[in-house]
Amino acid sequence: MTIAANKVASIQYTVLDEQGQIIDSSEGGEPLVFLVGAQNVIPGLEEALIGKAVGEQIKTTVEPAKAYGEYNPEGVQEVPMEAFEGVETVEPGMAFTAETEQGPMNLIVTAVEDNMVTVDGNHPLAGKALTFDVTVEAVRDATDEEMAHGHVHGEGGHQH
Ligand code: ZN
Repeated sequence: MTIAANKVASIQYTVLDEQGQIIDSSEGGEPLVFLVGAQNVIPGLEEALIGKAVGEQIKTTVEPAKAYGEYNPEGVQEVPMEAFEGVETVEPGMAFTAETEQGPMNLIVTAVEDNMVTVDGNHPLAGKALTFDVTVEAVRDATDEEMAHGHVHGEGGHQH
């Protein structure tokens, strides 16, 4: 069986940035289990895995457009400190979720100066090409319920 839409794939992976630094890895832990064709993982990774069988290993570099998107300078905003009322300390690196007209948005504080706070709504990996080193550990058919829900159930998936 090979990886295709409506299959459930289990992979061991290591993600590297452009400098070859490890960003994330499943090594030593549970594999990543995902429903193929349901946007559970970034498009570039899924495309590279289509047609691969258990035991196959691939190394692929995914451009930002098929990973976490291009970096959008308009995602950076300055907001007055008053917007953080009730928050004890506001400092760079702090992540929070803001309610916006477009729905909840994840923001990271990148600078605090006087009474202005700079926040960045870009994904931390936006604008970055990512290299994936992946080994396919298992492939199975998705159940009808998994296909209806758009995600994996049971081991490595949703428990509900
Ligand atoms: Zn479900």
